[in-house]
Amino acid sequence: MQNVPQLVLDSKKARHFDGRHPWVLANSIVKPTVDLEAGEIVELVQPNGSWIGRGIYNPNSRVRLRLLQWSPDEELCENWVYRQLEQAVNLREHWTCRQGELEALRLVNSEGDGLSGLVVDRFSSFLVVQFTSLAMLRWKDAILSWLQERLAPDNIHFSLDASAAKLEGVESFQEWTGETPERAIVNFQDKGVALTVDLSDSQKTGYYLDQRSNRERAAASFVPGSLLDVCCYHGGFSLAACKQGSVSDVTALDSSEKALRVAKLNAEQNKLANITFLKADCFDHLQQLCQQGQKFDNIVLDPPRMASHRSQLNSALRAYYRLNLSAVNLLRPGGMLVSCSCSGRVLREDFWGVLSSVAKRSRRRIQLLEGRGADFDHTIDVNCPESDYLKCFICRVC
Ligand code: SAH
Repeated sequence: MQNVPQLVLDSKKARHFDGRHPWVLANSIVKPTVDLEAGEIVELVQPNGSWIGRGIYNPNSRVRLRLLQWSPDEELCENWVYRQLEQAVNLREHWTCRQGELEALRLVNSEGDGLSGLVVDRFSSFLVVQFTSLAMLRWKDAILSWLQERLAPDNIHFSLDASAAKLEGVESFQEWTGETPERAIVNFQDKGVALTVDLSDSQKTGYYLDQRSNRERAAASFVPGSLLDVCCYHGGFSLAACKQGSVSDVTALDSSEKALRVAKLNAEQNKLANITFLKADCFDHLQQLCQQGQKFDNIVLDPPRMASHRSQLNSALRAYYRLNLSAVNLLRPGGMLVSCSCSGRVLREDFWGVLSSVAKRSRRRIQLLEGRGADFDHTIDVNCPESDYLKCFICRVC
């Protein structure tokens, strides 16, 4: 057993604590009696002293402790991190050798792979590593060296963005393991669509890989006619639909000029001329379209995360309600609605409730044809419901 300081679970929380969620919040533990440093390895015990788990302490974060191990016999060290990384990469290799090679995929998915606060995506011969916890910074150099040795990428972009830095009480950074390229442009194929992404200047890791199979399924479900792709980013849903030939004309909107510029380039390189890109706010624009009496045959709603904290849940549900109600009003009878939520705090049943309220209010029947999640490489830890963050409901609106 590792000899490390112990933290005691607050007795009021002890009864409800199932012990395998990787996040232990500040108000769930008794204030430590000794000074503990940020990034120190600690153990969590019940008020009666029985052992719960081992993890990394961060006095500057609301997630005071990131639990990583639940067996007292293990040791929390570099070798343990290497084993988690190997398991994560092995799983993807196993999958892709059965499903077909992917040029872009998620290799490590934070809680889903037991490494809370670490994401690794591969885009062709580049890796993008996103740190979102102080815990993972403890092994930053070890992780980067392991990735270099095991996967031999041309270069690795690694960062911790400003919002994660604020939450974790650390400095943000963005660097490359090799030479800093002037522009980090990568080209890759995603389900038959040719994509170009600038890794050093884009949202999240560069491209939303989580929607990979949802785009394909949505395209297969669309009825002939028009598509309104709301919050299109680099054009994922529109490009997949046009490539499959399932829709005839597409309006794709996003509030980010930069995202739209890349989306246009991607449409051009795939020789898809029937997409009109539009810079607009999704809430205002959908309301305007309703007022103008416009109608569409298919609508995709893929707004950004609306609740990162439990206190934002109700306002997020109201925003989803507004957006989905507008979309349903814009759809012709028999049209398809692909409605997504990537807020981990909004559980599947909450999102279902939103659609149910919209159906009541609009007096339309909403048939849920498929309730989907993120693609296979975005692993989910069943003890961390927040890791099932992506909901993608493919519905017919009668
Ligand atoms: N559908 C995309 C991913 C969307 S991510 C795909 O398949 O890859 C969410 C997008 O919403 C981002 O591109 C972001 O720029 C955009 N966004 C954020 N706030 C918005 C708003 N108020 N109106 C329109 N777009 C918004």
